[in-house]
Parts: sequence; C-alpha cells; structure tokens
Amino acid sequence: MKNYYVMTLFPDMIMQAVSYSIISHAIEDEHIHVEAVNIRDYTHERHGHVDDEPYGGGAGMLMQVQPIYDCCRSIQEKIPGRARVLYMSPRGRRFDQQIAMELSGEDALIFLCGHYEGVDERALQLLSVEELSIGDYVLTGGELPALVIIDAVARLLPGVLKKPVSHEIESFSDGLLEYPQYTRPREFMGMEVPPILLSGDHQKVDEWRQKESLIRTREQRPDLFNEYVRTHPEDRLIWDIIE
Ligand code: SAM
Repeated sequence: MKNYYVMTLFPDMIMQAVSYSIISHAIEDEHIHVEAVNIRDYTHERHGHVDDEPYGGGAGMLMQVQPIYDCCRSIQEKIPGRARVLYMSPRGRRFDQQIAMELSGEDALIFLCGHYEGVDERALQLLSVEELSIGDYVLTGGELPALVIIDAVARLLPGVLKKPVSHEIESFSDGLLEYPQYTRPREFMGMEVPPILLSGDHQKVDEWRQKESLIRTREQRPDLFNEYVRTHPEDRLIWDIIE
C-alpha cells in the first residue's frame, strides 16, 4: 500500500475529495492510504495562529515555519525510510505524466499545501522539499494541486484501474494525445461512429487510432508533435498525415 500524507490547513477538503469514485475504491481496497494532517494542530501559538506578516513588507500573510516543520517531522517519525516532501508551488517544476509515473514508484509521499501568500522559505529548506507546480497560474492554496497529483499518481498503481493497459494508450503516455472514442448508440443526431471501429479488423483500428492521435496532437499540441516526430522517425504514419 502507498501512503500519502497531506499537510494542510483544510484537512476536510482533502478527505472529502478522495471519498469519491475510483480514488475512494483505491482507499477501500488498500492500494493507497490518504491522510490529511492539520498543520494548525502543531502551532505553539495560543490562539492557533499559523501565519504572520512577511518581513520586509508586502501583501498578504505567510505560513510560519514552526508548525509546518513540527507537522512534517511527526509524519516522518511514523514512516519507515525517507519520504519525499513535495511542496505545491507555482514556482515549482511543472507536474506531468512523466513525474506521475516516477512518483507512483514511491512507497510514501508527503505533500505540503501552502495558503495565503505561501510559506516561510526556511520550512522549505529545513524539510528539503521538492517544489511542484500544476501549471502557470496561481491558486489560493495547495490542496487542489495535491489532490491533482494524488489522483494522477494513484490511477497508475496496479489494481486501481480495472483495465491497467489503458495507461499505455492514453494521452501523454507515448508522447501523443488520445484518439477520439465512441460508445453506443452507433448514430446520434445524424452523427455516425467511424465505420472502421465497427469493422472488427484490429490492425486497421489500431492504425486509425494512431493516425487520429497524430492529427490531434499536431493540431492541439504542436510542441508534443514535434518532439514525437524527432523521437519516432520510424513511425511511417507521421508522413501520411503530414503529406
Ligand atoms: N505568492 C506565491 C507565488 O507568487 O508564488 C503564491 C502563493 S498561492 C496564493 C498560495 C499557495 O497555493 C501556494 O503556497 C501553493 O501551495 C499553492 N499554489 C498556488 N498555485 C499553485 C500552482 N499553480 N501549483 C501548485 N501549487 C499552487
């Protein structure tokens, strides 16, 4: 079982979000354990403060180092080995499918969710955090990013999805976006399912899907497409769609 600890000021936000659908089944089936740990429980301040004004001035408040440090240490004490501490941060390395795969190999992960204007830099240094961003925009807190990462990582674990083969063919796994998919009915408002998908010819279906993936990727993510062309010169279907 993989253990994910989320240091947060809003534990309910985490536990609520993991109580649905595939992730809740992954918890029930003991593929993963998710625990939200309230940073506020570790403050030494009488009124439960966990934030203060930044030295040097500036807008907003910062989360203080002491409660974060103690919270993390208490988690680390109960985990065998050394778990990576991931600070959710817009200035971090951009999270992607590759990183999700890498993290799915870890037995335990500790997430630090910032709030307000972020956290005292010393907490990041003392805990040797790795900063991860979920995109070039600024959210109000790190809870949604932590949930995004837990979701993306958990679904890669054996047994979490009923058909694990789908990882290999879905978007990003091979550097391309996924092809279009259809289910019943065969016709809706005059729109037919592409006949090739009803042909029963698996080789032709695979080829059609690969071509559609290439077309979509070229249209929607030219950066990914160019990288794919560079790294897969042997894929003759590239030239079919370029010509
Ligand atoms: N002042 C910070 C900055 O400019 O980098 C932004 C702080 S943000 C309002 C509050 C918290 O939300 C951050 O500490 C971080 O944990 C989280 N957060 C916001 N945007 C994020 C993103 N794109 N990826 C990951 N975490 C994010």
